[in-house]
Amino acid sequence: MSTQKNITVVGAGLVGSLMSIYLAKRGHKVSIYERRPDMRKEAIVAGRSINLALSDRGWRGLEGVGIADEIRKIAIPMYGRSIHLKDGTSAYQQYGKDNHAIYSVSRGGINMRLMDLAEQQPNVSIHFEERCDKVDRKTNTLTFHNTKTDRSSEVKSDFVLGSDGAFSAVRTQLQLHSDRFDYQQFYIDCGYKELTIPAGKNGEHVIEKNALHIWPRGSFMMIALPNMDGSFTCTIFFQMEGKLSFEGLKTKEDVKAFFESEFPDAVPVMPTYLEDWFHNPTSSLVTVKCKPWVWDEKIALIGDAAHAIVPFYGQGMNCGFEDCVVLDGLIEKYGDLNGACLDEYQALRKPDADAIADLALENFIEMRDKTADKTFLLQKKIEARFSEKHPEKWIPLYSMVTYSPHIRYSEALRSGQKQQAIMDRIMARPGIEASWDSPEVEQAILNLL
Ligand SMILES: Cc1cc2nc3c(=O)[nH]c(=O)nc-3n(C[C@H](O)[C@H](O)[C@H](O)COP(=O)(O)OP(=O)(O)OC[C@H]3O[C@@H](n4cnc5c(N)ncnc54)[C@H](O)[C@@H]3O)c2cc1C
Repeated sequence: MSTQKNITVVGAGLVGSLMSIYLAKRGHKVSIYERRPDMRKEAIVAGRSINLALSDRGWRGLEGVGIADEIRKIAIPMYGRSIHLKDGTSAYQQYGKDNHAIYSVSRGGINMRLMDLAEQQPNVSIHFEERCDKVDRKTNTLTFHNTKTDRSSEVKSDFVLGSDGAFSAVRTQLQLHSDRFDYQQFYIDCGYKELTIPAGKNGEHVIEKNALHIWPRGSFMMIALPNMDGSFTCTIFFQMEGKLSFEGLKTKEDVKAFFESEFPDAVPVMPTYLEDWFHNPTSSLVTVKCKPWVWDEKIALIGDAAHAIVPFYGQGMNCGFEDCVVLDGLIEKYGDLNGACLDEYQALRKPDADAIADLALENFIEMRDKTADKTFLLQKKIEARFSEKHPEKWIPLYSMVTYSPHIRYSEALRSGQKQQAIMDRIMARPGIEASWDSPEVEQAILNLL
């Protein structure tokens, strides 16, 4: 039987809120401290409606505490990719068989629901405008600064969970005060900016609602995900510096010419793109890898605080929700949130977080460069056909990551590399364009497996 602990969770973001529900259901008393004001009362994200793709690993995390149906109410299924070419035409690629979908959810919307659901637990409280500034590892005491009253206070607890995101203060404190802390942080040369496709006159979606839209353009791309109110949030991923970049497009005329040439079919449905461009911030994309994630029996990191990744596999939140499932499973296994449980949490999750970080970086290339490439599309067609005929022998990498929560990210990475080596040989066969669906090609793959 687990001993009841007083737990301090730093950060009421997506992962902190979900993990608090798991911990409360195990009987712990959970106090969450969040730097920002309560977004349910104050319009923090006014003017920006960021949305995220939720897939099977994330759903599993929500199902584990019985709240998936609540979130389903605010999620829009996307059954495939709609690829928009430079000539203004578009093509639809279904994600997989069996009505496979990923789901568009508003970041603010899901975060607010998770906070509501956490607060419905009798043993969870959330304290807003409390910024964690200091962690004393020896006494497990945290110092918070209340940004409204400008006062500091100390909170001592049995256990501290750092779920305070990519620039985690808990992690930074531990890094400063620990020996042999491994830390790696790097930015990619692309950043992102959010733009909008507003709803139609009657609140309808003006492009296909149930699809993730991509405008792949080689060194950059734009994507769009549907919102419940009929609008789409578009995100342009673009070089930060250089001639063709956020920095390079200086005037309204530059941006207009760029959009008209690159996104001709999007311009008519994006009436505010010029205002959005100059008004909305340009943000950067960081990867963070670190170790350890756990200290003694008293402190652990989870979610982006432990592993921030680039968004190109749509897995950051999903991975964080999977952390919650794994940690909760280990609390069950060891009967307590103890040292053995935490050691296994780190041993299991660290390789998986590293794997999805690498896969996410690779998928950037795939999304921006290859989704419109004929050879790539042919390879996908061969893989899909083979996988349909031999589902026990071949699950495409995207499906392993997105729809197969029982396959670890690290296993998906390994299998994906093996499959790619096979496909490189298959694609090099003379006349593959004509013979791609022949028994010979099928047999060649079987021989290579
Ligand atoms: C452009 C973009 C697109 C993305 N798309 C997807 C997607 O499609 N699918 C997907 O699964 N993931 C996606 N992600 C990743 C996803 O947003 C993150 O992985 C997820 O938000 C991580 O949740 P978290 O709770 O760990 O961190 P966060 O959501 O960042 O929450 C951290 C919380 O801690 C609080 N905090 C920070 N510092 C302190 C402090 N010192 N004291 C107290 N509180 C503090 C913050 O205010 C925040 O509320 C995307 C990310 C980006 C940038």
